[in-house]
Amino acid sequence: MDRLRRTSIIPFIALLLCAAMAVAQGTRITAPKNNYKPSDDVQVGREAAAQVSKELPLLPEDGNADTYVERVGALLAAAIPPEFQHGEFHYVFSVVNASDINAFALPGGPMFVNRGMIEAARTEGEMAGVMAHEISHVALRHGTAQATKSQGAGVQLGAIGGAILGAIIGGNVGDIVAQGSQLGVGAYLLKYSREYETQADVLGSQILARAGYDPMDLARMFETIEKEGGSRGPEWLSSHPNPGNRQERIAQEARLLRVSSARRNSSAEFSQIQATLRRMPPARTMSEIASNKSHPNPDSGSRYPDNARIGGDVPPPSSRYRVFESAFFRISVPDNWRQFGDNTSVTFAPDGAFGNQEGQSVFSHGAIVGVVDVSASDLQRASDQYVSGILQGNNYLAIEGRYQRTRLGGRDALARRLSGTSRITNQREVVDVYTTMVNNRQLFYVVQVAPANERRQYTKAFNDMLQALRFLN
Ligand SMILES: [Zn+2]
Repeated sequence: MDRLRRTSIIPFIALLLCAAMAVAQGTRITAPKNNYKPSDDVQVGREAAAQVSKELPLLPEDGNADTYVERVGALLAAAIPPEFQHGEFHYVFSVVNASDINAFALPGGPMFVNRGMIEAARTEGEMAGVMAHEISHVALRHGTAQATKSQGAGVQLGAIGGAILGAIIGGNVGDIVAQGSQLGVGAYLLKYSREYETQADVLGSQILARAGYDPMDLARMFETIEKEGGSRGPEWLSSHPNPGNRQERIAQEARLLRVSSARRNSSAEFSQIQATLRRMPPARTMSEIASNKSHPNPDSGSRYPDNARIGGDVPPPSSRYRVFESAFFRISVPDNWRQFGDNTSVTFAPDGAFGNQEGQSVFSHGAIVGVVDVSASDLQRASDQYVSGILQGNNYLAIEGRYQRTRLGGRDALARRLSGTSRITNQREVVDVYTTMVNNRQLFYVVQVAPANERRQYTKAFNDMLQALRFLN
């Protein structure tokens, strides 16, 4: 008896193994070449996630929707094939209270699913489909693989957190990549190539099957996004371009897979969560959220906080500094200056010195630092282009003198002063413009602004800012 039982257990184990393998099978995937360490993914993802959590409205962590998405996510993360599990990755899930049909995952595992995505999905499987696709990008380390491909390992990933946030809320991931701006390098981590899209669709199908979902739910979700999306869905589609016959490729993969028998029957719970979300006040779009929070170029609309008040007493620059770092440069600013950034520029200004007037974003004290596209590769001509743009946008200003040669972060630079009577303060305003070439079609600038009668108080802060400026690439 004893002997018999022991032998009979072997075919049973073999059978189990077989079943497991049938579930796990499907197209073999090779993760792309990557010069970064998995811990780099974790670090950059963690920094970006901290910023995202600060800037975007998230549904409460202990609320029904968040708990639910967290549970589905954990199921999917556990179903990642062992060869793509990274011990240091942490798959954590949050729901963004935004109406766009969008979701994004950051390197190392933090994932954000928009409320609009959950409301648009027709089944839990469809929602899980997008999540499995996003998880696949993370598990295959597509973000850092893309950075590897585009820049070698030269990009300082640690500095990219802010750029990622800009790419997400700026809503123009595609534009940045097209510009090739170094500040926009964060976008590389979230906008995927068609080759990576196919990989994420294939691995996503495998993860779904292993977690007990029909892999075809992923294909169905793409239809839902395209159909329901309208103006609310294109963001996701632009970061996840259709590699061509996407649905057929998923169907082909689905035929190779056996769905795990631990199939979830979750339609009641899913409907309940959707009903809860639909009872909430309507969510804003990402761009509405962004426009309340951040400010880009002063000439591109009103993007300072709506409640910002300009005028009255402005505190002098603090003698303590804090460091601001982007993917491209590092600079020190007085620690009582707030910052408002987008993908190409960042404004630093004290309270009382920024606001919106007649649909324009204006600031009276502080500095703006950024990169602008120019059509000249000669520093002086490029600077002329930039300065004439400032003069056009601020017709009370006039050039005060010639260019002065100077240095900026170790590079040849030009300085030029503009001045005029500000319509905000009704005082004479002094504007110092510093420029240096980034490459033959991009100009880096620092513009420092203060009323003439307070300019002396700003001399040290402005000089220290320029002294501390470093380029990181
Ligand atoms: Zn994708």
